[in-house]
Amino acid sequence: MAQEHTALTVALEQLKIAAEKLKLNKGLHEILKHPKRAILVSVTIKMDDHSIGVFDGCRVQHWDVLGPFKGGLRYHPNVTLEEVTALAMWMTWKCAVVGLPYGGAKGGITCDTKKMSIGEQERLTRRYVSLIVDYLGPHRDVPAPDVYTNEQTMAWIMDTYSQLKGYSIPESVTGKPVEIGGSEGRFCATSQGVALCVREATEKIGLKLKSTSVAVQGYGNVGYNAASILHSMGCKIVAVSDSRGGVYCAEGLNPYKVRVHKNKIGTVQGYEGSIDITNPELLTSKCDILIPAAMENQITETNADKIKARIVAEGANGPTTPEADKILREKDVFLIPDILANSGGVTVSYFEWVQNLTREHWTLDEVNRRLEAKITKAFADVNKLSMKEESDMRTAALMLGVGRVAHAIKTLGLWP
Ligand code: NAD
Repeated sequence: MAQEHTALTVALEQLKIAAEKLKLNKGLHEILKHPKRAILVSVTIKMDDHSIGVFDGCRVQHWDVLGPFKGGLRYHPNVTLEEVTALAMWMTWKCAVVGLPYGGAKGGITCDTKKMSIGEQERLTRRYVSLIVDYLGPHRDVPAPDVYTNEQTMAWIMDTYSQLKGYSIPESVTGKPVEIGGSEGRFCATSQGVALCVREATEKIGLKLKSTSVAVQGYGNVGYNAASILHSMGCKIVAVSDSRGGVYCAEGLNPYKVRVHKNKIGTVQGYEGSIDITNPELLTSKCDILIPAAMENQITETNADKIKARIVAEGANGPTTPEADKILREKDVFLIPDILANSGGVTVSYFEWVQNLTREHWTLDEVNRRLEAKITKAFADVNKLSMKEESDMRTAALMLGVGRVAHAIKTLGLWP
């Protein structure tokens, strides 16, 4: 029987593997299993029909020994404290892998934005910020976008935080629109990082990037931009999907035209010249590169064996279970783990924060140059460790991230 996983069981299993490889002492391992702080709130708002809506919200702050907490805010009907805890833990390792001076955090509100008006989403966001304001701040915890939150959500966060403090504080949040202090290149930074990792991986295994075919699950910020950037780098995008299903076309899709189609009818399905497929079919479709860019637990022991891609680049957080990891390793699939593959987002978030703190504004070229340097270095560091340890890229990335955080905790010591 297939092992049932939640995001947290996956995250804890990964931590266990890294702790064993690093020979971490029991106490340190125990510390890292738990978040430093988890804040639970009931977000109460007036709905458009004058009824009262009460939504469960949380902010989980995992560990901040390398710097202030940093992490996205997710709006989704299935958000739970457990899921957000796993996502916060992954943020801690991710920041450490790329060498950013941050700790990991994540926030979530259990809600269905598809059934809410813009006004309701705005009131939800502002109320949520007001409930956790004492735990936020440029040197405490800096939110960013995640699933079903976007630049507009970040603008509301900045405004609410600034209003409550009495002056404008752009450095309180990242992923904002450029006009109010956002960074050039932040919008597609996560996907730019995914594309850079894919480029590095193709070189490692001797594939020519320009003659590869790509399948992308999820057609939001990460999925659409990844498809678009890889298309512009010469790859053929053969399949894409969203929450309602996907499309496949062996001759290749035009990502922009698929986006226009999705904007018109609400899904990529039915795009002219392609065939409709399901999300499970997308994952096992014929392609060289597979990019899960939607939700957790998509590649499991039930479908991992059927995956045909040579490279899996995890745009999403936690899309692969530990059992599936093992199967992919046996199949010699080159997996680029989430904490490396999607780290471009938090990297440019860091650039945005630095620009806000110094009241500077960098050009897109400057941002992309710095992003490429950070990602290629992180990729090389992880790859080098994986060769030294004769391990897969996930284990190496975890060893690097967990190892750096554990070392910092040891150096700082426990007080009192
Ligand atoms: P988004 O809200 O912009 O897009 C999510 C997409 O996934 C949508 O197209 C939606 O239709 C699709 N989707 C939702 N449930 C699905 C399902 N069950 N099957 C298939 N598709 C489904 O979100 P995003 O910001 O693109 O985030 C996607 C993933 O990338 C998440 O795992 C997120 O944590 C991760 N991530 C995002 C960022 C970022 O900067 N936005 C950074 C790092 C990691």
